[in-house]
Amino acid sequence: MMVPMSAPYADRLAALASVLRSAGVSALCVGPGADLRYLTGYDALPLERPTVLIVPAEAEPLLIVPLLERARAASQGVLDRVAAHAYGETEDPWSVVRPLLRGASSVAVGDRLWATFVARVSECAPGARLEMASSLTGPLRIRKDKAEVEALRESARIADGVALRLASMRVGGMTERELSVLIGDALLSGCERVNFAIVAAGENAASPHHEPGARVVRPGDAIVCDFGGTFEGYGSDITRTFVVGAPSAALSSVHDVVARAHAAAVAAVRPGVTASSVDDAARSVIAAAGYGDAFVHRTGHGIGLEEHEDPYIVEGNSLVLEPGMAFSIEPGIYLEGRFGVRIEDIVVVTADGVDVLNEALRSLVVLEP
Ligand code: ZN
Ligand code: ZN
Ligand code: ZN
Repeated sequence: MMVPMSAPYADRLAALASVLRSAGVSALCVGPGADLRYLTGYDALPLERPTVLIVPAEAEPLLIVPLLERARAASQGVLDRVAAHAYGETEDPWSVVRPLLRGASSVAVGDRLWATFVARVSECAPGARLEMASSLTGPLRIRKDKAEVEALRESARIADGVALRLASMRVGGMTERELSVLIGDALLSGCERVNFAIVAAGENAASPHHEPGARVVRPGDAIVCDFGGTFEGYGSDITRTFVVGAPSAALSSVHDVVARAHAAAVAAVRPGVTASSVDDAARSVIAAAGYGDAFVHRTGHGIGLEEHEDPYIVEGNSLVLEPGMAFSIEPGIYLEGRFGVRIEDIVVVTADGVDVLNEALRSLVVLEP
């Protein structure tokens, strides 16, 4: 017999209720998205019919779901975890919410709750101050527990596999878009969802978020491939830069600078240092090489149930790193009209250092033309 995995959701809901009480917030209302999934395990569909979890500070949580979504919620086990009210097509779901918010002085609403629903929450709690749910859920979600780290690790392992497959491919003559589709398909061998698959060849690689298009991959091109999927809710995000045939001296030397910046930032990660200091570790290597102005973005972003979340590894962020925090390290150099290079891994802060989840080769991989 299999031992059931201990569900963390009751603990998370209890922790949230205690945060609500100490912050003096009457209730939290979140819709489909990362907060709902974190608190209940429910991966809900964002629909015009509201799905809303209400967590009052002083009462039991209640999940409001459209009747036709009930089976989907049940299949994810969420109805065994929280009390739920399934409303029919002609029923007003807010009539169920209203009594829960009666007399509320402040309500924390999901950062991505649609404005149309925020307006209804506001009507249900007249006079209440509205706050962002992330100010309460963020500090809980920012430190990943063991199971979350393992999901991130598996997610990274799947992405590594795709990067390794790319390294042995002949891509000459393919378009960026064809290569992007191929990366997406490869991710789906292990992921439940593909979130993005950026392929930027040649001069397009100078644009960090280039949309893969009809550009054909040619000998001499640098190709920045940045992709990620979702495994059991947790994202991957890896970037590798390839070159088709022998690299130019300029590309080799820029790749070397980015690799050293990446290594310096990874080496700077440990508990007790600020997010800003990790950014500085990467940025100072790139600036010293004379490319400071070409590193046009922050060094990294947190990752978990969302592709981008706290902590942001950016200049001026004085947040102190703690064990369990997971984020990307992704310095890059972008030379307009010429080429670009980026190297990205996901790392987790450990009790005394750093755990690098991606293992795929970080060197400039030469693809056969
Ligand atoms: Zn990005
Ligand atoms: Zn990325
Ligand atoms: Zn990233």
